[in-house]
Amino acid sequence: MMHDLIVIGAGPAGLTAGIYARSRKMKTLVLDAAAAGGQLVSLYPDKGIHNYPGFAEVQAKKLSERLVAHAESMGCEIAEGCRVLRVDRDGDCFVVGCDDGERRSKAVVVAIGMGLFKPRRLGVPGEEELSGRGVGYVLPEKDKLVDKRVVMIGGGNSALEMAIIADSVADTVLVHRRDCYRADESVVESLSKSTVRCMLETVPLSINGGSRVESVTVEKGGETLDIPADLVVINIGNTPDLEHLKDWGLDLDENGLVKVDSDMRTSRPGVFGCGDVVIYKGKYRQIVTACGEAATAANSAYKFVKKPYWA
Ligand SMILES: Cc1cc2nc3c(=O)[nH]c(=O)nc-3n(C[C@H](O)[C@H](O)[C@H](O)COP(=O)(O)OP(=O)(O)OC[C@H]3O[C@@H](n4cnc5c(N)ncnc54)[C@H](O)[C@@H]3O)c2cc1C
Repeated sequence: MMHDLIVIGAGPAGLTAGIYARSRKMKTLVLDAAAAGGQLVSLYPDKGIHNYPGFAEVQAKKLSERLVAHAESMGCEIAEGCRVLRVDRDGDCFVVGCDDGERRSKAVVVAIGMGLFKPRRLGVPGEEELSGRGVGYVLPEKDKLVDKRVVMIGGGNSALEMAIIADSVADTVLVHRRDCYRADESVVESLSKSTVRCMLETVPLSINGGSRVESVTVEKGGETLDIPADLVVINIGNTPDLEHLKDWGLDLDENGLVKVDSDMRTSRPGVFGCGDVVIYKGKYRQIVTACGEAATAANSAYKFVKKPYWA
């Protein structure tokens, strides 16, 4: 079946592109390799978002549910569990090759965020052996943390926010190797109001245990200490996995991100981009900027497909 537009990725950018395309009555299909909602559901479902206009605070999972419901109510088709591997051309149309078959469209919006994330490893003894047995890279849902001892490792927004969430139900220690955090001031302030035990200038040396995690050994001020733990969450960033983008015929920067102009056009006519995956001068990776770029990308796709007299 031929669609006017295929949007690749159902995070905030892809879903907003779908909403705008449907407001122009374009037949629109949004594909996602995982579940719709993007990083909001895969990386931080319980976190509160405080900077999405119109919501003083909204839980990430709730905001993603609203975005999905909005896109569906506008008539977007959303296919989950459908990973795009190729974007080929056949005459006038694009052939989007997924792991479960091909779809065709007149234009494409690439909104794959940072791809499918690979969490950055700490690289200490015990990490790999105890992975999935108390060592993880994403904070489990809150009800799985109740009365546990959690050691969070990291010093950015994500580590601090996850530590604060864990702290509401679990005994939580935050370990960071530097002498200050690299998180936003407002997040550092929230941390200072929590009961998280903060260990700065502390270097993890090993994660220990038998069938499950039992402790983390750290070095602080020349001393070696053991911190008892049931769960160790390593939150030191994610390595984007954008390998397959190389084969989509798009002009990429040295980090593998898609270059776009101010109309969100890529180097390939008929292919537009928005959200975390795109790069331009002054790019700021936030939900609201992803949504703004998506509105432009969908409008540009509309002009490309429908060629209105005013464009
Ligand atoms: C811990 C953390 C906290 C954050 N907090 C905030 C905050 O408070 N406020 C804020 O504004 N921003 C925040 N951000 C940033 C925000 O999450 C991103 O800027 C936003 O999610 C980008 O949206 P996106 O749609 O471009 O990408 P994503 O949300 O990454 O969505 C991309 C989607 O594409 C899919 N995909 C990837 N590859 C393929 C493929 N080959 N085929 C099909 N589908 C594919 C993925 O499964 C994913 O669902 C935070 C980020 C992190 C990591």
